[in-house]
Amino acid sequence: EGINFDAYEDIPVESKGREVPPPVSSFFEMDLGSHLELNIKQCGYKLPTPVQKHAMPIIMAGRDLMACAQTGSGKTAAFCLPIIAGIHKGQDGFRGRRGARSGAASPVALIICPTRELVSQIHDEVKKYANRTTVRVAVAYGGVPIYQQLRSLQEGVDILVATPGRLVDLIDRAKVSLQNVKYLTLDEADRMLDMGFEPQIRKIIEETDMPPSRNRQTMLFSATFPSEIKRLAADFLSNYVYLTVGKVG
Ligand code: ADP
Ligand code: MG
Repeated sequence: EGINFDAYEDIPVESKGREVPPPVSSFFEMDLGSHLELNIKQCGYKLPTPVQKHAMPIIMAGRDLMACAQTGSGKTAAFCLPIIAGIHKGQDGFRGRRGARSGAASPVALIICPTRELVSQIHDEVKKYANRTTVRVAVAYGGVPIYQQLRSLQEGVDILVATPGRLVDLIDRAKVSLQNVKYLTLDEADRMLDMGFEPQIRKIIEETDMPPSRNRQTMLFSATFPSEIKRLAADFLSNYVYLTVGKVG
């Protein structure tokens, strides 16, 4: 949809890190599972974009990732598809004991992004990619009454897509617990820092590691790579792959 694949031919891709999993040339080279493969086909995606070719095998291998790529390069699917595949595999045959009727909602995957609009966009994409699976997604953002979001959270959630401010509010009210977060994604990290969300982001990441366990896989996406982002990566990623797709400011 609007993606010109010919223009991708000469996009420079650079990766740094230890034993970087090699890129794929097709969605079907990875073990995404038949449900996701069908969903990808129904989205009309013929080939992965450059960031998808490189980032998806890295995430599928369980590695932390710092990725810089321009808008419109297909980053959402690059992180959502491996996360959904991972959760879906873990859920196969375990439809029971997943309710969260009492206590705080406890997602396995958390996607943090700067605005309500982005939360909605990512939500729409996750719904398409998770079609036919048992993976449940919920959203949390400011500017609307909190009770609307509490209801879907209390029904149980695997993937939570949220803005930093509203998420901190939910944590403080003990409505969300980040203890079970295995996949943490920060999307448009540079924009979130520009908006002054660094304290909230640091608090959120620390909540995912209480008690510290190294059980978390962290993916950091950003269009630019200023020193604040480098610090965040150094503080919260471990043995990560650094990927740049195209020219990065
Ligand atoms: P970014 O986050 O990098 O700015 P998005 O993830 O929002 O980009 O993707 C931009 C658009 O490209 C979306 O409409 C998405 O559905 C579409 N898209 C993503 N991957 C592919 C693909 N492999 N083939 C065709 N279209 C794709
Ligand atoms: Mg995006």
